[in-house]
Amino acid sequence: MPKRNFNWQIASFFTIVTVMAGYGVWWEIHNFHLLTVLLAIAMYLLCGLSITITYHRAGTHRAFKMKRWLWNATLVLSSGAVLLPFITWCRRHRDHHAFTDDPLRDPNCARPGFWGFLDTHIWSVISSAYRDKPIDLTEVEDPMVRWQYRWYGPIAATVGFLLPVSLSAIWGDAMGGLLVACGQRMFLQYNGAFAVNSAAHSLAFGSKPGGHWSSAVRVSWLPFGFLLAALSLGEVLGHERHHEKAQAWSTGVRGNFTDLVLRVMNRLGWVTLRES
Ligand SMILES: [Zn+2]
Ligand SMILES: [Zn+2]
Repeated sequence: MPKRNFNWQIASFFTIVTVMAGYGVWWEIHNFHLLTVLLAIAMYLLCGLSITITYHRAGTHRAFKMKRWLWNATLVLSSGAVLLPFITWCRRHRDHHAFTDDPLRDPNCARPGFWGFLDTHIWSVISSAYRDKPIDLTEVEDPMVRWQYRWYGPIAATVGFLLPVSLSAIWGDAMGGLLVACGQRMFLQYNGAFAVNSAAHSLAFGSKPGGHWSSAVRVSWLPFGFLLAALSLGEVLGHERHHEKAQAWSTGVRGNFTDLVLRVMNRLGWVTLRES
């Protein structure tokens, strides 16, 4: 078993987010504010789709082209999900596809069984044998990507925390903004993102109709599929096919929310989809 390094920073951050999310339930019971909940949902969609559409499909897999303004705007919005700068995310995800299930080279190496599922879902995020390679910014052509990497901390703090807290302060619910639009929103967003690494790589949650060599599965809609699909904005669906055809813009599963949004963006001329 390769040696794994425990990351105290990430572990502390997740602990704080989880405590905020739990406290947020108490806050909603006693100080429910509809506008704060709507803000949390809007932030979830904007930040989440910026990860699924921009980070994942357009940026990492180059599945389609998008307008420059949309690329720039979603790189800023994606920082509100606090899921690493694009360069780091992209490199890790490309390694996930190239070295799937290799404990040293796959950052999201899936392990079998129930405990393996829990290990992949959360423990491997804070304690992994995977090592990020050093990043040389002079090799990165896109100025927006360089800018996001350099200033990721302040951008993530502004979009992920300051923006929702300031907006909810307008209607007198700054604390609700922190606990609900930051804490709960991020807690659910993380579980949706991590489900793509855990549930979408576990036979307990799906099957392998395509017979792909890796642990990637096609997640079933029932019993947890609806919940996981909602949390991951559709990304958990059709994951076996995604490992077969990573450059396809669609996962080929009906009801995938990210696919639906991409179709609308294509109609508006914001992205250019090609047949997959
Ligand atoms: Zn995968
Ligand atoms: Zn991928």
